[in-house]
Amino acid sequence: MPQPSLKIDGARYVITVDDQRRIIRDGSVLIENGRISRVGRADELAAARADRVIDARHFVVTPGFVNGHMHISYAHPVRGIFPDDLGSPLKQVFALQTAMTEDEEYHTTLLALLELVRNGTVCLLDPGSTKFPDACLQAYEDAGVRVILGECVTDREAPFTLPRYPTAEAVARTAAFIDKWNGRLEGRLRAWAMPFSPETCSAELLQALKRLADERRTSLTLHHGSGPQARREYGDRGAKSPTEHLEKLGVLGPNVLLAHALGVDDAEIACIARTGAAVTMCPVTAAKGARGATALGRMPELLARGVRVALGCDSPNNSNHLDPVRTMNMAAIQYKDARQDIRLVPAETALEMGTRLGAAALGLGDEIGAVETGKRADLVLFDTWRPEWQALWNPVNNLIYNTDGRSVHTVIVDGRVVVDDYRQTFVDERRLFATVQEIGERLQARTGITFPRSRWPIL
Ligand SMILES: [Zn+2]
Repeated sequence: MPQPSLKIDGARYVITVDDQRRIIRDGSVLIENGRISRVGRADELAAARADRVIDARHFVVTPGFVNGHMHISYAHPVRGIFPDDLGSPLKQVFALQTAMTEDEEYHTTLLALLELVRNGTVCLLDPGSTKFPDACLQAYEDAGVRVILGECVTDREAPFTLPRYPTAEAVARTAAFIDKWNGRLEGRLRAWAMPFSPETCSAELLQALKRLADERRTSLTLHHGSGPQARREYGDRGAKSPTEHLEKLGVLGPNVLLAHALGVDDAEIACIARTGAAVTMCPVTAAKGARGATALGRMPELLARGVRVALGCDSPNNSNHLDPVRTMNMAAIQYKDARQDIRLVPAETALEMGTRLGAAALGLGDEIGAVETGKRADLVLFDTWRPEWQALWNPVNNLIYNTDGRSVHTVIVDGRVVVDDYRQTFVDERRLFATVQEIGERLQARTGITFPRSRWPIL
């Protein structure tokens, strides 16, 4: 059955992020069969008819947002429990994740998707943390989003609980996962290879998974950090840095996405650029977790070398919000302050990372990331009848510096309206909130991972 057509009519601005970066005042977008069929000024599209017309006079339209590193499966039930003085919560994070049941993961995923979609996210990459994709498939389908999944594998010791297998089994599991899942949900679901990190995987495993990703014409992502200490440790493995280690193994390439990438030096940036690998950076996680984005982050240099840089929210217990607008805001202001240089990461560049550059980093640059004829129709309509959008002269500056996801009014994925007038219809929100709160109680009781509720007395 053909999909109903949709027209977004007379938007105050359409920020296309197309090749010319056109911003169209009084702009219209026509969507047919899930794709953008026309974009232009409202008068040019006046004769275009559609099954549904959205009066967009007080909307700013942008491409849908891409989240390139988003552990959606465990954190919502225990969001906010880690006190600031805990230090790294990774040990607790992985213990909680390991303890999740199938039903708990389904509800947690549903809540994560709700928050992501309501804030304008149309595509997310979960770096292997979902343990029960069969149970969660319904949640992805109901939410209507694009999702990239994989099975997290390792074959070496790790300082926290990670799924560890003999090398051959890790490869076989990844192959089975890709073969089962890639292309599901009418192509909205992609399956990748997802080794956890270069430190927790042998050279043989990393090489086998890269070969597998190449053979299956899919991609690979892994957690990647560097810094002076890491570079010293890699000396024992015969490489100058973790990045050089991956390059020597032949594991870098255009279908490889490095997550976080904090602490890379000039040689590593050159290596990433040379091999065509992409990067996801999580600016809010880095700032909140005291990971040193301001000292170790090299976002401006990666961008200057033409590296495809996506943004991620990491997890609801890292960033802790799942708001792409706030994430773009942090990306735009973090380096200005750290280096006392106001020219760094302009608002336009932050928006590119949230849209077309992020989509390109995830290998989806031909399909999404811009409001452009022929692209899949993934769009966000921001409501400017709100104080934070006033006064409106430069819509990109307003979006990145003034606003946040709360003004997301309508979200369209693949031509389907998934958020309509601030509302979604795929889940009963109040019931879900209560269910996830209960899961959090059970999870803390079961694992013993719990902390005083607050530094201040709760009466
Ligand atoms: Zn991660």
